[in-house]
This record gives sequence, C-alpha cells and structure tokens, in this order.
Amino acid sequence: MLKNDMLDQWDRDYFFHPSTHLAQFARGEAPNRIVTGGKGCHIEDRDGNRLLDAFAGLYCVNVGYGRPEIAEAIAEQARELSYYHAYVGHGTEASITLAKMILERAPDGMSKVYFGLGGSDANETNVKLVWYYNNILGRPEKKKIISRWRGYHGSGLMTGSLTGLELFHRKFDLPLSQVIHTEAPYYYRRPDLNMSEEAFTAWCAAELEQLIEREGPDTIAAFIGEPVLGTGGIVPPPAGYWEAIQPILKKHDILLIADEVVTGFGRLGSMTGSDHYGLTPDIMTIAKGLTSAYAPLSGSIVGDRVWQVLEQGTDELGPIGHGWTYSAHPIGAAAGIANLQLIDELGLVENAGTTGAHFRKAMAEAIGAHAHVGDIRGEGMMCAVEFVKDRDTRRFFDASEKVGARVTEALLAEGVIGRSMPQGDILGFAPPLCLTPAEAEEIAGKTAKAVAKVLG
Ligand code: PMP
Repeated sequence: MLKNDMLDQWDRDYFFHPSTHLAQFARGEAPNRIVTGGKGCHIEDRDGNRLLDAFAGLYCVNVGYGRPEIAEAIAEQARELSYYHAYVGHGTEASITLAKMILERAPDGMSKVYFGLGGSDANETNVKLVWYYNNILGRPEKKKIISRWRGYHGSGLMTGSLTGLELFHRKFDLPLSQVIHTEAPYYYRRPDLNMSEEAFTAWCAAELEQLIEREGPDTIAAFIGEPVLGTGGIVPPPAGYWEAIQPILKKHDILLIADEVVTGFGRLGSMTGSDHYGLTPDIMTIAKGLTSAYAPLSGSIVGDRVWQVLEQGTDELGPIGHGWTYSAHPIGAAAGIANLQLIDELGLVENAGTTGAHFRKAMAEAIGAHAHVGDIRGEGMMCAVEFVKDRDTRRFFDASEKVGARVTEALLAEGVIGRSMPQGDILGFAPPLCLTPAEAEEIAGKTAKAVAKVLG
C-alpha cells in the first residue's frame, strides 16, 4: 500500500512520462495509473484494481511478475558485489556466465555478447559496430542501414531513425540521412488484394532489390529487421519472406541485424525468432526477455564474421572506443541468469507456442466473425486484432474515431490490459509466456465484450 497521498499531485507536477500526451497529463486530463504490485500475469494498482496484463508490461515480463527466484538472485548479487564495470578486461561471475548462457541459446555462428541496458542502446551499438566493420575493411562509403516501414528498433537518434513509424520521426528531425526504409512485409495490407502470399513475398523482395540498386550496393552496410514486426502492428512475415530476403543481402554483401528484442528467449515458441524463421544473422539484438525486465539489460550478439574484423580493428587501432558505465551490470546479469534458468525449468518456450496458438484460436472464435474485425494474426505468444470499417475493402476507420484506442480502453474496463498499437486500429497482445489456457480464454472473452461495447 502506498504511504504517500501526494503521489498523484507529484506525478502531474514532476514526472516526465515517455510516450504520453504531456500537456493533457499535466492538466490532469489524461489518466494516470500507479502500479503497486504484480504476480504471475496480473498487476495491481493503488486503487485496488487487479488487471490481467496481456502485454507483459511492454512485451518484456516473459516469466510473469513476482518470481522470487529472480528477486533473490538480484538481492544476493547486490549484497555480494553491487557493481563493477566491464572496461579493459574487467568482468564479474554473473556477466561472464550469462554471456555463455546466451551463446548456448543463440543460433550457430554467433561469437560474443556485448551488454547494454535496453533495446535502443543495443541497436545504437550495432550500427556503430557495422560502421567500424566497414571502415576496418576499407569501405568507408558502405554505411547506410536499411530498415522496414513499421519496424521498431528504439527511439534514440539512430534507432529512432531505424524505427519506421511516423510518430517517432515527427518534429525530431528524423530519420537521419544514413537510414533508408523498405516495404513492410504486411500481407494484410498488400498493394493488391489478389496477390498470393508467395507473390507478395516476391514483391517485397523485388522492392528491396530495387532500393539497393537505386542507392548503390556499395553504400549499404546492413539490413535490420524484427523476425515478426512488433510495435508496427504485430505482423508475422508472409510465407518464404526471410528465405527470399537473405540471399539478396548476401549477394550485395549487406550484413543482417536480427532485432530480437521482443522475439528472443521464447516469445514465438522457439528460443529465438532466428531459429523460428531460419535466419542467419550477423548481429542479434536482445533485451526485454533476457531478464524479463526484472532489471534493465540488453545485448548485441556479434557473429563470427563481424567479430573477426573487430579483432583486426583493435590490432590496428588499439582498444575499441565504445562502452557504457553500466555495460554488463552484475545485477542485470544475475537477473538474466535466474530468468533464463526459469524459462527452461518452467518450459515457457514450449508454452508460448502451445498456449499462444490456443489464445489466437480463442480470439478467432470470440470475435473472428465480427463485421469490423479485419484480421487476427500472430505467432507464438503474440496476437493482433486489426479493426476495419469494411472487411471486404479493408478500409480504415477515420483516425479521429480512435477505434483501436477505444476498444483498448473498454478492454481495460473489463480488467485486461492490451495495447493500442501506434499506427492503425490495431489491438495488440503479448502476454507473459506463462499464460494459462484459462487466462487466454478470459482475454478473448473480455475482448469480445469490449469490441461489442465500442463497435456493436
Ligand atoms: N527493438 C525492438 C524490436 C523493440 O520492440 C524495442 C522496444 N519496444 C526496442 C528495440 C527498443 O528497446 P528499448 O525500449 O528497451 O530501448
């Protein structure tokens, strides 16, 4: 229970909330929620509401809330050694052990883990490594990064540029000039509804190839993509997509960065999205599920091919000029070890596959026939419901109707947290991987009620 009855006022007066309408919030026109506790798939707020968190925070609390094993590992680490840095060869038992555990779970050909704090800084690291790599190889012109529209890779200067969502560019002078975007593999929104999935995949591949030719392959360093688009609308790729994209990158000597911040450590029902879709990345970004958000920690997993060149670079230039004070923070690492052990012990990767499939089936049964539900899609423990004005033409609702946001609000009133995705009327779900079939059915049933309330 909260001891301080000034918190509401202090929240409005002093706290700068991310991704929030600042003016409305300060004026008290937008709601606040002060979260006080969590257990399993539920959180509690100070008003006594118990909510089923069907977005696992920001798709990160993969093992669920309130796991004593992780809390104890953090406490023990804090008592023994709360911090030491990782510069010039320093390390801790926790950070070294976690690096090994990550590589045991990574695809073949991955070599080393650089630790950061969150997904954005990990992707900043990745772009710097790619630039360093091409400079060492004597290719200073090969620097542009290709990302996809609707991709999400963070909200820093470079990573906000990689993110292919207008909201993250507007009035921030982004994207930076080194970033170019290609088409999203978003089959539901294909340019011609008569296209088969295979034809759409071929179209995406042709668009990428044309972009590379237009810009000049010698100017392009890397392609970054999430195995399943997350914040851009929870969009699994069409059949054969990664099989079509990877040879194009190989042909033009373009590195592949797999952004597995959401998909890493089980969310798709496989240990990684790269395993799931047969990707062989040169660099992998991990965060969220690495510690299930019990402490901030991210990683850049560097593949052999890039690693060899980084070593060559330091032989030529001396120590690499990159690092954060909190790289490989031992408390984050201790949380990561306990978290990965728990994922194995509880069989959460498997549960993400089986209960995730059950969840989407329950959702399809609950609302699939509704006149304004255009698409229900997902993979593993990810699901999106896309609302449309007209199912046949896939026409959008007018943005001013805020349909996605209103359904999300109505669902909250039923006690379930979903997420209104930032672009389009898309209600997203990415529950903790420990979701039970009964909880999956509860979310689906309550979503049906919310949809009926808003859309009839
Ligand atoms: N990449 C992906 C795929 C993400 O979903 C996110 C966060 N939602 C990020 C990167 C950025 O991570 P962070 O917010 O921890 O900086």
